[in-house]
Amino acid sequence: MTRPLVLALLTCLAASAQAYVLQPDPSGATQRVGGPLSYQVSRQGSRDLEYGQIVPAVDLAFAAWQAASNGKLAFQNAGPTDLGPPEDGETRIGVPVVVSFERESWSFEGDDQAVTILEEDPDNHEIVRADIVLNDVTHHWAILGDGAPHPGCDDLQNTLSHEVGHLVGLGHSSLGSAVMFAATHPGEISKRTLTGDDVAGIDALYAGAPSAAEAGAGCSTGAGPAASWLVLLGLAVLRRRRS
Ligand SMILES: [Zn+2]
Repeated sequence: MTRPLVLALLTCLAASAQAYVLQPDPSGATQRVGGPLSYQVSRQGSRDLEYGQIVPAVDLAFAAWQAASNGKLAFQNAGPTDLGPPEDGETRIGVPVVVSFERESWSFEGDDQAVTILEEDPDNHEIVRADIVLNDVTHHWAILGDGAPHPGCDDLQNTLSHEVGHLVGLGHSSLGSAVMFAATHPGEISKRTLTGDDVAGIDALYAGAPSAAEAGAGCSTGAGPAASWLVLLGLAVLRRRRS
């Protein structure tokens, strides 16, 4: 008589422990990165940070997710680019992931820190590239912990870690301590480090996927996906907590 009760309790505990969310594409399918991805950082920098200050934070954000993927994700820094944020609706075929700052006007929600715009192959739901755009209009960016005071600034790596989580296919976690939790605040650096919930999300997405090396094999011919393959998935946004 007691066994069903115990089973029910275990099920309940298991359900509450999972807070991560796999972000479906517009068709409702699970999306994931299908092979090695290169990324570039815009040499334009931000109002407060130069290219050389930005790159280490970008590298660390990508490296954190790669390390958690057990060889399923492989990211490579392909150097600087002259590209900035994409135009509205623009797709960039054959271009690596671009990390840039929007300085002129922020066309997304005014308090959002950043957006990640994904491009996928709708035939297999693989994310083929992305643009990560940081809000340099209403936010000031810094490398916190570099010895200088940065009152009111947002930590670049903290936000980039969250955005790369969107790039690999995760949505917003309901766990307040997770990197993929939707809210942040100035001075926060805890999102630099993936939590167990974030790693569980990566496991759920990639545990059954081929390694990055296997997925990349045979993809060296051609100039990238045809234009008709690419769809704009919309925006994955990190919002500032309103207090
Ligand atoms: Zn987000």
